Amino acid sequence: MKKTSLLLPCPELNKKKKSLWPVFIPFAGCKVRCVFCNQKLSTGREKVNDIKLLVNKELRQLKKQAQQKKKVFGLGFFGGTFTGLSLELQTYILSEARKLKKEGWVDFVSLSTRPDFVNYEVAELLAGAEVDLVELGIQSFNPEVLQANKRSYSLKDILSALSLLQEKNLDYGFQLLPGMFKQSLAIFWEDLDWTLKLRPKTIRLYPCLVLKDTLLARYYWQGKFVPWELEKTLLALAVAVKKFWEQGITILRVGLTPEKELLENILAGPWHPSLGLLVKSLAFRMYVQEYLFWSSRTVQAIYLPSRLESFFWGYKGEAKTEWKKIGIGPELVKTGPYREIKIDFVN
Ligand code: SF4
Repeated sequence: MKKTSLLLPCPELNKKKKSLWPVFIPFAGCKVRCVFCNQKLSTGREKVNDIKLLVNKELRQLKKQAQQKKKVFGLGFFGGTFTGLSLELQTYILSEARKLKKEGWVDFVSLSTRPDFVNYEVAELLAGAEVDLVELGIQSFNPEVLQANKRSYSLKDILSALSLLQEKNLDYGFQLLPGMFKQSLAIFWEDLDWTLKLRPKTIRLYPCLVLKDTLLARYYWQGKFVPWELEKTLLALAVAVKKFWEQGITILRVGLTPEKELLENILAGPWHPSLGLLVKSLAFRMYVQEYLFWSSRTVQAIYLPSRLESFFWGYKGEAKTEWKKIGIGPELVKTGPYREIKIDFVN
C-alpha cells in the first residue's frame, strides 16, 4: 500500500489575538442615517454630544486598565464616521491616542469611516497621526444598492479614497453588509470580486439585519424588503471567507456582537449567536474538501492544528455528519500544535 501526504496552509493560524479597546462614538460625524443603521442598538450607546469628554474618559480608563493589568491594548474608534468629525476634533483625539502609544499602553490605533469622507487633508492627518488601520464602511460597491441605502458615494469615490490612503502608506480594511436593501446574491458576488481585487488588509462581514427604529424596518413592514435567509447568508459568507483566507485577508469579525439590547430589537434577518463559527466551519469544509474532491485516494489521517478544531467539527459538532458522509470520522482526526494541515492518504 502506497502512502502519500498533502500539506495545506492553515487559515487564521497567524491571526494575532489582540486586546482591543473599542471606543464607540455612535453617529458621530454621520451626515445622513443609512436605512439599516441603529447605532444605539449595535453599540449599546446613545448618541453622545460631547465627544471630547467621552474620548477622554475612555482613554483614561484604558490607561488605568493597562497599568493595572500590565498589558497593551489596541485602540479602535467605531460606530460613526470618524473622518466626518471636524479636523480639529480628529486631530485632538488622534493626538491623545498617540500619547498613549508613546507611553506604551497602546500599540495599534484604528478607526472606521466612510469612503466619501476621505480626502487629501484627512489622509494626511491620519498618516501624520500614525493611524495603523482605516476601516472603510464600503458595504457594497453597487451604485443602486448604495443609493437605496442612503449611502451617496460611488465606486469612483471608493477608488479615490483607496488611492489617497495608499499614497500615504495607510493600511485599510473593508466592512461589507451582505443582504442590504436591493442587494441580490449576484451583486454580492460582484462586491466580493471588487474586494478581492482591491485587497484590503482586513475585513468585517455584517449580514444585514432589520433593526427596530430604522427606515429598513419600515420597508420590511411594508413588504418592500425581504432579508436574506440564514442558509443563503451562510453559503454566501462561507464562499467569501474561503476566498479571503486564500488571499491572506484577515477576517476581523463575522456578524454583530450579541449584546442583550441588540438581541431584543432584531425584527428579522439572518441572525445566529454563533454566526462566525457557522460560516467559518462551512468555509473550512469547502477549503479542505476542495483538495479531497479530486483525489481518488483514501484518507488515512488528518493532522489538524488544535486551534482549528472548532472550525473542523463546527457549531455543536454539527459538521461531524458532513465529514462522515465522505468517510472521515473522529478516529482519523488528530489535533496538536501543528502549523499546517496534513492529510495522509493510502492508495
Ligand atoms: S452606517 Fe455608518 S455612516 Fe451610516 S448612519 Fe450608521 S454609523 Fe453613520
